[in-house]
Amino acid sequence: MTGKTHVAIGTAAALLIGQPENIREVVLCIGTASVGSVISDIDVSTSEARRDVNKVIAITLLAVIATVFMEYQWKLGITASFMRNSNLVRLVMGMTAFLGVCIFGKSRPHRSFMHSLPAVGILSFILYIIYPILVPYFIISMLSHIAADIFNYKNVRLLYPLKWGISLDLCRADGLISKVLCGAGSLLTFFYLGVFLWRTGMNFLGGM
Ligand SMILES: [Zn+2]
Repeated sequence: MTGKTHVAIGTAAALLIGQPENIREVVLCIGTASVGSVISDIDVSTSEARRDVNKVIAITLLAVIATVFMEYQWKLGITASFMRNSNLVRLVMGMTAFLGVCIFGKSRPHRSFMHSLPAVGILSFILYIIYPILVPYFIISMLSHIAADIFNYKNVRLLYPLKWGISLDLCRADGLISKVLCGAGSLLTFFYLGVFLWRTGMNFLGGM
């Protein structure tokens, strides 16, 4: 699967399964799912795959900047919610730990630690320290990445550090299935957002 496909599937899954309740949660859900659906591929190490790592970093920065911008522009209440549920010390400690785990994951072989259930557990626990509301969206999107990669030909070491891995060898990264899933995920996301905005009657727009 390409990065685009992972983002499309992960975002759609996080919205449909996570069911954010208001526009603030929708923004947090999409931001978190964008990162959760690509963070696993920080472990690619060959020179041609360096572009993929750059993409993961770019998507992460973009998600953070877009969320901060929307909060600033539309006063979604993310800052107040964050201060109620966390604090700056937890944010700094958590981000340091998150970065540490990613650096460790990057030093491991592709589709091992960063594509395993222990990594989902550890990163989710760290996110819980940072801001608990993000956790379900992160778990869903990271699991969607791992599940999608299992359809590929390279073994996914789901239970790292065990050497055992699983792959169904059904599709290639840029093959037809990947493109179809990318289109389906994007359509579902836009459909969900359309219905969400229609149901909330665009109320939040009045407050902008
Ligand atoms: Zn992957």
